[in-house]
Amino acid sequence: MGKILVVDDSRTSRRILKGILESAGHEIVGEAMNGEEGYQKYCDLKPDLVTLDVTMPVLDGIGALKKIKADFPDSKVVMVTAAGQKSKIVEAVQAGADEFIPKPFEAEQLAQVIAKVIQ
Ligand SMILES: [Mg+2]
Repeated sequence: MGKILVVDDSRTSRRILKGILESAGHEIVGEAMNGEEGYQKYCDLKPDLVTLDVTMPVLDGIGALKKIKADFPDSKVVMVTAAGQKSKIVEAVQAGADEFIPKPFEAEQLAQVIAKVIQ
């Protein structure tokens, strides 16, 4: 269980993710709608884990991942991916992403991935 920041430009995705993570016993300490806002909130909140949607306006998930890992090498970052994003996944692995969760969300699998990374 831990403090989690959820970053996604889709309000629906944030709501679903928040519901699953809270049901699994985690605390959602913040939400952000794009990578730049997510990076700023990460700096302010220092959560135990952040979820980053790959496709977002202003600064995408890969850009936010790079900024967070550069400033906080011990951060735990889980990328939220959609179908057809293989090249983005490769880029995220190279940038230090800790894990991946696919959209559409599958509650049990998602909770397992988060638990594994956060421990
Ligand atoms: Mg998106």
